Amino acid sequence: MTDRPLIYAANWKMNHGPAAATAFAERFVYLTAPVPQRGLWFFPPSVSLAALTEAFRSRPDIRVGAQNVHWEPKGAFTGELSIPMVQESGAAVVLVGHSERRHLFGETDEQVARKTAAVLKAGLEPLVCVGETLAEREGGRTEPVILRQLEPLFDKVQAEHWRRVVIAYEPVWAIGTGRNASPDDAAQVHELIRFTAARRGVPGRLSILYGGSVNAGNVLSLLARPELDGVLVGGASLDADGWAELVGLGGAA
Ligand code: PEP
Repeated sequence: MTDRPLIYAANWKMNHGPAAATAFAERFVYLTAPVPQRGLWFFPPSVSLAALTEAFRSRPDIRVGAQNVHWEPKGAFTGELSIPMVQESGAAVVLVGHSERRHLFGETDEQVARKTAAVLKAGLEPLVCVGETLAEREGGRTEPVILRQLEPLFDKVQAEHWRRVVIAYEPVWAIGTGRNASPDDAAQVHELIRFTAARRGVPGRLSILYGGSVNAGNVLSLLARPELDGVLVGGASLDADGWAELVGLGGAA
């Protein structure tokens, strides 16, 4: 279907401790093989980072990452994880600003940008999430909300670091609801992000994933749009057989 690079990112949220993550990985490695141009990213809970990294050690196409980090390298921040710590556990990528972090835990646009800059400075790759709520979409405010979320990134991320940034457009109303954005709506927001980034001097073509109720039944129609460079998936990534099937459908062969 496509010869462009595609990323399939799995956000496990608060699922799969070390034993379950290892069992998943063993099954997934058995069911899949590396495919040129296809990157597979996994975001397990932090307690499973080391086990999952170890279980995937034979697979250079797979990267394991943290779901969240603090921007400070160490200090009195009870309950937080530093970037050097997640790196030591095997993280090569970091999910930043997921809507659950923003809306359930009060993470601000400014904090998301600080985390992103710190992840980049440490040499890792951030997957930075943006997206509007249902009320914002219905109020015609999708564009200003996305621009507001992006704005601090343009201030804080150094020009030479942008080639390592991946953005995920995840409309909040589509996450975990079974109601995905249409390919046209997703493509429109991806283009808005790319256009804005170019206008703000971001070099090159920004890689942008779509997330929100992606499953085996809709992934092909979403990835048929060249504006999408992959998908970020929660629920449909939790079962090894189902996830192996989904990543085999996308056509990055
Ligand atoms: C997510 O957690 O980022 C997500 C997109 O979840 P789901 O695929 O379950 O909507």
